[in-house]
Amino acid sequence: MAPPNEGNVEVKISFKTLTPLWTGGADGQMNRICESGLLGSMRWWYEAIVRALGGKACDPSGDKKCLYDATKHKKSTISDERQALRRAGLCDVCQLFGATGWRRRFQLQVVEDETRAIWQGNTLLNIRPGGRNRGWYLPPGRLGTFSLRLRASPYHLTQVLALLRFIAQYGSLGAKPQLGYGVVEILNNEEVKQHTTSFSWKNLLPENTGQAQTPEKQEDLPNLKDMGFFCYRFEPEHPSWWVRLSGLERVVHNVQPFARQTVPIAPLLKNTWRFGHWQRHWGRDRDFWGLVETERQRGKVTVSWAYRTDEAWEIRGSAWLCGLKDEKAVWAMFQNADIWANTVGIEGDLITTPREQWKKILDI
Ligand SMILES: [Zn+2]
Repeated sequence: MAPPNEGNVEVKISFKTLTPLWTGGADGQMNRICESGLLGSMRWWYEAIVRALGGKACDPSGDKKCLYDATKHKKSTISDERQALRRAGLCDVCQLFGATGWRRRFQLQVVEDETRAIWQGNTLLNIRPGGRNRGWYLPPGRLGTFSLRLRASPYHLTQVLALLRFIAQYGSLGAKPQLGYGVVEILNNEEVKQHTTSFSWKNLLPENTGQAQTPEKQEDLPNLKDMGFFCYRFEPEHPSWWVRLSGLERVVHNVQPFARQTVPIAPLLKNTWRFGHWQRHWGRDRDFWGLVETERQRGKVTVSWAYRTDEAWEIRGSAWLCGLKDEKAVWAMFQNADIWANTVGIEGDLITTPREQWKKILDI
């Protein structure tokens, strides 16, 4: 099945942030949503999906990233365009997201940006649960609504929209997902769905892309097959449900202005799991959780701030369970609803999707 050569179409997809969005910016400030920050996260999730499906995804940060060979592509007699591009040096991800010599197959522009910084200036909010000397430092992300104007061929546009729908359901947009940023809701979901009805992630399975072999599994690169997902849903009786939680009581005045929408609870959960339950024989905690002080080294657990939906409050995230000595025990910790209830201070429902069910996540 070759991508048909069609003209470009334009679609607008509108979002509401559920937890702050952070795309970085100059001097630790973020004066607007930066497209490159969104694209980085989109590519990350697309890579994880492609690898799970058995497709080829290079590591864009490594030295083996794709290089497009235009001459080879021009000379190619292969009728399947995806195959031809692969022979010309492009993995399945670079075919859509671009590589040196090959432009990205879709245009993305932030429009109607109605987001605001959750606090002014570039001060970091220090969340320090009991027992921690320094704790976690949170930058001032943005809350509100915004839209993305996407332009691409119908073939590519469908993939991008399906990816954004996946991100809205399970992933996150922008940077600092480990600190709980970037959970979004699609406001015109019904309309967007119309554009993706013909799409299935199955289309990207090797047998449907004419790919001869499944590439070797790359242990150290994100792969949906290695990820377990969780969502904790609870209904607080009082709007101040969070003010006495250890780590938040010191920052009540900072959090209060946006606390009806979202509460930075991610550090509290990480603190409980890492320092209250982690067993040394499960693996090196630093590799799994990242460096607690700076978060510069990317950890493998993503957990959102608590955010309010129409019916209840939710906290969601995922754990990338690879390179561990006892994956089962680690996953059992995330599945333990008592830990959630004790940390949040409210009993709720915990919904988990183990990594074995990754196909369910992709609806295939
Ligand atoms: Zn590539």
